[in-house]
Amino acid sequence: MNHKNYKNVMLFLMVLSSIIVIGQTTAIRAGKLIHPETSKIENNQIIIIEAGKITYVGKDMPSITIDTIYDLSSSYVLPGLMDAHTHLTAELPNHPGIDESKSTFGVPYYFESTSLRAIRGLQNSKLLLESGFTTIRDVGNEADYAMTDVEKAIKLGWFDGPTLFHAGKIIAPFGGQSSFEPPERGDSWKLEYLDADTHDEIRKAIRKNIYYGANIIKLVTGDQSYFFTEEDIRVAVEEAHRAGLTIAVHAMDGEPAKNAILAGVNSIEHGLTMSDELLQLMKDKKVILVATEFPEEHNVLYYGGKRDLAKQDALLFIDRLKRAYKIGVKLAFGTDVYYKVPNKNRIEANYDFLEMWTMAKIPDNEILKAMTTHIAQLLEIENERGKIKINQFADIIALKENPLEDINAIKSVHFVMKEGKVIRNKK
Ligand SMILES: [Zn+2]
Repeated sequence: MNHKNYKNVMLFLMVLSSIIVIGQTTAIRAGKLIHPETSKIENNQIIIIEAGKITYVGKDMPSITIDTIYDLSSSYVLPGLMDAHTHLTAELPNHPGIDESKSTFGVPYYFESTSLRAIRGLQNSKLLLESGFTTIRDVGNEADYAMTDVEKAIKLGWFDGPTLFHAGKIIAPFGGQSSFEPPERGDSWKLEYLDADTHDEIRKAIRKNIYYGANIIKLVTGDQSYFFTEEDIRVAVEEAHRAGLTIAVHAMDGEPAKNAILAGVNSIEHGLTMSDELLQLMKDKKVILVATEFPEEHNVLYYGGKRDLAKQDALLFIDRLKRAYKIGVKLAFGTDVYYKVPNKNRIEANYDFLEMWTMAKIPDNEILKAMTTHIAQLLEIENERGKIKINQFADIIALKENPLEDINAIKSVHFVMKEGKVIRNKK
């Protein structure tokens, strides 16, 4: 089958799967309808869903034929949650640590096949959807485009899953995020990264990612002593934006972060030690901070049990989160779990990140915004997802407690709807 035929078959299957739900009209009785973008609650609302989209929100039940009614009149009903920074296919059993005398040779996920990575990605996608996360941005480390097939399997209707944005291979100056590899090993990082050291290589890397199915672009700058200039990143931004993709940049602080902000990227990932001046620049340039505040217990794994270093990093993250919020940088929630947390599955490990936001005293309604509204804006899908409003996709969840008063309420999600299909409905 040639490429064009293949695309046509995929399109046909996607249209077919959407026709199946056309004709079904679903209603939700929402006792307390939360609008995260305004932090407002409306009581006793009716939501009507047809063909996967919201067609009505209001006080009165419209006089149309309704096939199914879900009674959530004693619940808080809100748009599905989002995570702006995950690595669904990666799970290091033990972090290699930061011992700089050792190379990254031996990172276990480098030795797993792309198919195994895809299966893990699918398992995590399902788990996150069932937990109320209806849109996920996966920022790379997916071997040979594992996430392209995860997304395809979900779109074909083989499995339920969230809406997925995925970066393919991470683009970086020579060496990716590896270090101290012996030359005999060759460019072993290339399973996960694309080397791009010139403007032509940057353009080629972006086109390659798009060709193999990536729908966002991720750059890493600042992990080597050589890093992308503002001009380099401008080339990447221009290339990505021209193709309609947003662009994320991994940077901690200093010149690598400043170059990315000035070049007009959509988000900075991590920004662990960013100064107030850089945070102000982010605000001025409307760059979103995807915060990825690693909790102390996770840092303990990273630092091989060294509690003092783990605590120090956690405090840095809390301090930076406080400063970013005070300055008014737009914040997006991101979890960044790419390792195994003992005795926890992926969603339980993700929940640990919430405590960092509460420790930084970010108001609960702002945390909810960072998990919905701001990520929809970051992904440029705010007209389609992230709100309970006419013409939005019906990505809807329900909770027993009010997340505007305590964000931990999201941990007990009891109803999940994805594009009109009920994924979870527990009393
Ligand atoms: Zn990450």
